[in-house]
Amino acid sequence: MIEATDLRKLYRIADREVLALDGVDLRVAPGEVYGVVGQSGAGKSTLLRCVNLLERPTSGSVRVHGRELTAMSESELRGARRDIGMVHQHFALLSSRTVAGNVAFPLEIMGVRGAQRRRRVGELLELVGLQDKARAYPAQLSGGQKQRVGIARALAARPAVLLSDEATSALDPETTGSILELLRDLNRELGLTILLITHEMDVIKQICDSAAIMEDGRFLEQGPILDLLARP
Ligand code: ADP
Ligand code: ADP
Repeated sequence: MIEATDLRKLYRIADREVLALDGVDLRVAPGEVYGVVGQSGAGKSTLLRCVNLLERPTSGSVRVHGRELTAMSESELRGARRDIGMVHQHFALLSSRTVAGNVAFPLEIMGVRGAQRRRRVGELLELVGLQDKARAYPAQLSGGQKQRVGIARALAARPAVLLSDEATSALDPETTGSILELLRDLNRELGLTILLITHEMDVIKQICDSAAIMEDGRFLEQGPILDLLARP
C-alpha cells in the first residue's frame, strides 16, 4: 500500500548539509498499522512529508496505492493526495470555523455540495463520536476532541491511507489511549492503512502491527511488532 525505496533527503542550508533520510526502505501492507519511532531529529517527519510528497525526496521512489508519486507533477499530486489523509500533532484546525465547518472544508474544496456534504459531515462526526459538537468551535473543545475533528477531516475524502504526525504527543496519557483506540477502530472498520510517527515506544506497543526504529535518517530495525519487542 505504501512502498518507499531507498529514500534520501539532503537538506542544504547555507554551507551546511543534513542528510535527513539516508536510504530508507519502507513497506506498509494494506490494512496495516505501521509505526516509525525515534528521537527528535531522527528524520521521522521528513519521512512522512516525503511519503505524501509535500517534500520532494532527493532520490528514491514512493508508491502509494499502486501509484508512483515521485513521478507526478504538482497538479497530479493534488489529486493523488486525496487518497492520503493526514493528522497533525497540533491539530491544525481553522479556529474561525465550527467543528462541522472544519470537517466540511476538504469536501468544499472537492466540490461536494449541499445535502450530500451535510450528510457526509454527519457521517464523519458520528465516526469519531462528535455528533453533538457540530456547532462548537475548536476553542471550546478538549485536546482529544480537537484531534477527533482532525481525524474526521482527514477521512473526509475516503482516503485509503492515513498518515499520523505525532497525533497524540500533545495529549495526556488517558486521552492518548482513547485516540489510539479510535485509530485502531477505524483501521479495522474501514480497512484503513495507517502510517504513524512517534517518539514514544508506548504508542507503537499500543496499536502497531509493524514498526521501524529510526535513527540518523535510517531504519535500525523493522518488522512485525512482536518480533521487535522480543529482541534484546
Ligand atoms: P524528527 O521528525 O525525527 O524529529 P526531522 O525529520 O524533523 O526529524 O529532522 C531530521 C533532520 O533533518 C534534522 O537534523 C533536522 O534538523 C533536519 N531538517 C528537517 N527539516 C529540515 C528543513 N526543512 N531544512 C533543513 N533541515 C531540516
Ligand atoms: P462554519 O460556520 O464553520 O462555516 P457552516 O455552518 O458553514 O460552518 O457548516 C459547514 C458545513 O458543515 C456545511 O457544509 C454544513 O452543511 C455542514 N454542517 C453544519 N452543521 C452540520 C450538522 N449539524 N451536521 C452535519 N453537517 C453540518
